[in-house]
Amino acid sequence: NADMAMYQAKSGGRNRIHFYSPEYERKAREHLELEIALQHDLKAEALSVVYQPRVDAKGVLYGAEALVRWYNDKMGFIPPDCFIPIAEESGLIAELDDWVLDVACRQLAAWRALGLAPPNISVNVCAMDLKRSDYPNFVARTLAAHGLAPEDLILEMTERAIFDEAAEDIRTSIEQIHALGVMLAIDDFGTGYSSLNYLQRFPIKELKIDKSFIQGIGDHASSESLAQTIINIGKTLKLTVVAEGVETQAQRDFLSRHDCDLYQGHLISPPLPPDDFALWMVGHRHVASARTMAVEIDA
Ligand code: C2E
Ligand code: MG
Ligand code: MG
Ligand code: MG
Repeated sequence: NADMAMYQAKSGGRNRIHFYSPEYERKAREHLELEIALQHDLKAEALSVVYQPRVDAKGVLYGAEALVRWYNDKMGFIPPDCFIPIAEESGLIAELDDWVLDVACRQLAAWRALGLAPPNISVNVCAMDLKRSDYPNFVARTLAAHGLAPEDLILEMTERAIFDEAAEDIRTSIEQIHALGVMLAIDDFGTGYSSLNYLQRFPIKELKIDKSFIQGIGDHASSESLAQTIINIGKTLKLTVVAEGVETQAQRDFLSRHDCDLYQGHLISPPLPPDDFALWMVGHRHVASARTMAVEIDA
């Protein structure tokens, strides 16, 4: 790289190599700008939460996953994959995730009050949340504040989060959260960690097959065997197996032939703002009852 200057500097008796490049500097500045803007918008409660339905093999609504959205006045829409890592590095993630949990629980309670609600809500958490010794307590308080039961909530964590360096703190939190009765899911399964024995050692209820495997179905034999293998692992351990990122009927058919439990993806619905989600539930209920009626007429 031509514009990268490298030099060695002796400091503290140790040899260190420093890399300087305009590219690196630009990235660092961008990173800082995002961090400052995120901090501001978080304080202003300018973020929002969208909800993606999760359905069972028959198409019945099983639950909804809450996903955070950030629209900044100057920068426009910024995807979570872009700002979640920044929030994690800067420590803003605690505030962000606590806010999302509160909003999602309030939303579920509001839908229930209308008589039209998904049976449960899934919320994403990361290592930094689980490391906080007060986190399980916060979860319990938030549920209680909205009149929800522990079974109303599923917390999704990646394998990477479980195997973060502070594994002991995280393990304690996971056990306390489990003791509350809140269910735990492994997100993006298959992308993070090569050992499987942790699945037995942690009180996990649900396995979400990473969408990279789902999206190869129909195109790559290797994705198909991997998806099938992951379903079998989940079944062996009596876990609920979820396919995320289901985009085509062919993918859904393949997965249901192999006994996958739950389906989530654009084929069913993209993540939706609360009002659109409510409309989706109304439409979906009609479709479901029309299907039942058709079955009754057939019979
Ligand atoms: P995730 O938890 O694995 O969420 C699934 C992602 O797949 C979401 O991306 C969702 O919009 C997207 N998706 C759903 N169906 C389809 C599909 O059919 N095709 C494709 N290509 N994508 C689909 P999103 O919303 O951009 O979120 C990305 C990631 O950011 C999430 O992955 C999660 O790890 C993280 N994230 C989102 N919200 C939060 C949050 O509130 N807190 C934390 N800590 N992380 C969050
Ligand atoms: Mg998730
Ligand atoms: Mg995922
Ligand atoms: Mg993900």
